Amino acid sequence: MQNNEPKFEVLHMPPENTNSVLVSCGDDAVIFDAWGRAEDWEKLLSDRKLNLCAIYSTHGHSDHISAAPSLAEKYNVPWYLNSGDESLIMWGNALLDFFEMPHINSDYKKPEDLHAEDRYILPNVLMQVIETPGHSAGGVSFYFPDYRVLLTGDTLFRDSFGRYDLPGGNPHQLQQSISKLYDMKFPDDTYVVHGHGVDSTIEILKKQNPYFVPHKCCCDNAEEHKCCCHGHCGCK
Ligand SMILES: [Zn+2]
Ligand SMILES: [Zn+2]
Repeated sequence: MQNNEPKFEVLHMPPENTNSVLVSCGDDAVIFDAWGRAEDWEKLLSDRKLNLCAIYSTHGHSDHISAAPSLAEKYNVPWYLNSGDESLIMWGNALLDFFEMPHINSDYKKPEDLHAEDRYILPNVLMQVIETPGHSAGGVSFYFPDYRVLLTGDTLFRDSFGRYDLPGGNPHQLQQSISKLYDMKFPDDTYVVHGHGVDSTIEILKKQNPYFVPHKCCCDNAEEHKCCCHGHCGCK
């Protein structure tokens, strides 16, 4: 009998560094943040007789995409990444050296652009794409409303946030993105998978992460009204 409930699994592909997520439903599977070597993913998919349907990346740093282009090519499936991060794909090869991992070739299979939208990633798995730039220019988070699962990439960690000093990073934008996630009012029991480190829930983040706070316009009560958030919070 076919089980139509999707399974969400956090995987640590060698060399363990990043939280990848495999969503599978029946025989079909989607990979989020395909870190590691393509051959390790191929073995996992073949051992478990899964059909790979698509690959999504929260952002373009190599520790979230290293296996994505070759898997997308090998299985002839789309790889989705916000176009704001395309310039990071080759830039990240230096990090792959650090992990003694193969480089992404310059003729890699190009990703398809990804923007804020609701889409079905598998026939009964609805996903919301939320644009959360700041750690990188094209960072996104993924939310699965029917299963209360949120993938934040490096925008947000259990107790902190991702760095903003890499190309395309912006601290102000990063805090706005974190607050945008807060203001989406996900249920407290939403399971949160971060790009690195221990998983959490919205309740844990509210208690433990001092940056997980509502958006507050920094031009509040300013005598000379100069909005520094460019109207993001609805202020004029
Ligand atoms: Zn990153
Ligand atoms: Zn990362």
